[in-house]
Amino acid sequence: MLKFPGIYSDIIKGAWKRTLLNDEEKKKTQKSTYRRRSPAAGGIRSDRIHRHQLGPLAAGKDKNRPPKQISDDWRLVLVNYENPVPEDYTFTLIELRNDQAVDERIYPDLQAMFDDARSEGISIIVTSSYRSYEDQVEIMERFIRDFENQGYSHEEAKEKAEAQVNRPGYSEHQLGIGIDINSEDSSVQSSDHAWRWLHENAWKYGFIQRYPADKTEITHVINEPWHYRYVGKEAAQIMTENNWCLEEYLETLR
Ligand SMILES: [Zn+2]
Repeated sequence: MLKFPGIYSDIIKGAWKRTLLNDEEKKKTQKSTYRRRSPAAGGIRSDRIHRHQLGPLAAGKDKNRPPKQISDDWRLVLVNYENPVPEDYTFTLIELRNDQAVDERIYPDLQAMFDDARSEGISIIVTSSYRSYEDQVEIMERFIRDFENQGYSHEEAKEKAEAQVNRPGYSEHQLGIGIDINSEDSSVQSSDHAWRWLHENAWKYGFIQRYPADKTEITHVINEPWHYRYVGKEAAQIMTENNWCLEEYLETLR
């Protein structure tokens, strides 16, 4: 019945330096990305990808504002509508068994969280994780094509797409520490069930719900109960106790 039995009990297929990808590995990365978008592979529906990318307040993007990083800690790198992934950002990806990949530094806590969730009867799965810059370009191009097919000119289509999709380079998924988590088999257990457990417990493992419903004006992203971001246990606890999103927490560190 389960498509990926034991997915997190025997998870590691390999690791590679993101900065040292050769052409063969790049193809492999892109191929696995395409696979994980298909319903048969990861249980992820294409509309999930679309919804994930939506930014209702994206019209407020200020492209001229210089990027700012408040902390040197990799766990607190800020990537949002106005802060791109830093150009010199490097990390090592570790591939999960279902063609997902994350920064290897979050793997032990991710594994612990999944183990504990499962021991409590919560069956969860990573449905989207690392996305390369090229993945994001492809998503943006798809949106533009869709609008053009609806009759918009290229310029109009581009403008509409950019209001709905993170510009390539501005997605937290590119860090390898932002992940989407859903129920492993939604016909058995709804994702609401999984998200409720995560909402209450993820902070203990260093993960936060990155885009809560009451922070959309700050994050410029709609409520995404499935998107979790690693910040480390200490920061996650402080943010949870104070009901701060990442942007608010970082302000306290200035
Ligand atoms: Zn996400």
